[in-house]
Amino acid sequence: MTTEIEIVRTVADLRARVAAWRALDETVAMVPTMGAIHEGHMSLVRKAKTLADRVVASIFVNPLQFGPSEDFEAYPRGEERDAELLAEAGAELLYAPNAREMYPDGFATTVHVSGLTEGLCGASRPDHFDGVATVVAKLLLQCGPDIAIFGEKDYQQLLIIKRLVQDLNIPVEIVGGAIVRESDGLALSSRNAYLSDAERAIAPLLRAAIHQAAQQIAGGGSAKAALESARASLEAAGFRVDYLEALDPQTLAPLPRSFSSARVLVAAFLGETRLIDNVPVPPPA
Ligand code: AMP
Repeated sequence: MTTEIEIVRTVADLRARVAAWRALDETVAMVPTMGAIHEGHMSLVRKAKTLADRVVASIFVNPLQFGPSEDFEAYPRGEERDAELLAEAGAELLYAPNAREMYPDGFATTVHVSGLTEGLCGASRPDHFDGVATVVAKLLLQCGPDIAIFGEKDYQQLLIIKRLVQDLNIPVEIVGGAIVRESDGLALSSRNAYLSDAERAIAPLLRAAIHQAAQQIAGGGSAKAALESARASLEAAGFRVDYLEALDPQTLAPLPRSFSSARVLVAAFLGETRLIDNVPVPPPA
């Protein structure tokens, strides 16, 4: 049995559906995605369902957030199956605008969040977070949800979006969703589909390496030494490390000499595929 989900493609139709729910005093949660729906996205929809009466998922492969040599054209697309999975997880409405609806002729505005966007993925993907901030601001203003859910998988993105809604007074609560992983620890990602069998066999080491570094730091070990040994084991396995850092989990600033919480974040290439992951440093026992 296929579960029903309505698909709308224009801002006007999206607003009409949300207004009808509002008229019934129903609350609305939004889960923005780029499609290629997997269990990670579905967990966000399920979480949204526990926090609001109605869930709007969106699918938009946002050209603004891809660099010129990145995988915009190759990014996996398959709306029919995506719609079924989103419905199965509990979404009532799928907003799937095309690029002209999102960026009509004459579109000239960019949302830039400074500070948080400068390191990590922002350093190696110039303009990426401007593209993300611009599209997320638009999606939130188009839909007007009470709550919007974003995965901790994209940890830096989550912090940037929290900053953005606070700074622009967008009346929405941003909620993080835990990372969903394969049984071997690899974080689910639409880009995992690019991995060859040999790369897929190595990929779980990414999480294993940062997990071990986090444990060492929590045990009082030096963050520098823990990160160096994690980097060495990733490189020995065939990863090309883009960044590997332990940072303040709220500000992404370098860790002071003494700290109570931290996050270990990594991006690394396996062949052409860039994988990201992050874990909290557990509090000392
Ligand atoms: P994407 O379609 O990759 O742009 O992701 C859409 C949303 O799903 C973002 O908020 C991601 O952080 C989140 N997401 C992606 N992968 C996972 C995962 N493995 N676990 C939890 N959330 C995820």
